[in-house]
Amino acid sequence: MSAEPPKEQPVKVFAAAVYECVRCGTRTTQEELSKLPEVKCICGYRVFRKARPSVVKQIKAV
Ligand SMILES: [Zn+2]
Repeated sequence: MSAEPPKEQPVKVFAAAVYECVRCGTRTTQEELSKLPEVKCICGYRVFRKARPSVVKQIKAV
């Protein structure tokens, strides 16, 4: 009788913040970093810069 609704949720195309290690260039997402006990690259470096997601904006040429 208690019909539970499906727990499926639509996958939102959300541009998660992408970070790039300034040392080795390994890219990771903020989500991945949040899973780690500390923000650290696989190479051991801890400095990241924000990288653009692979979405190319179209800019109108005047
Ligand atoms: Zn690195």
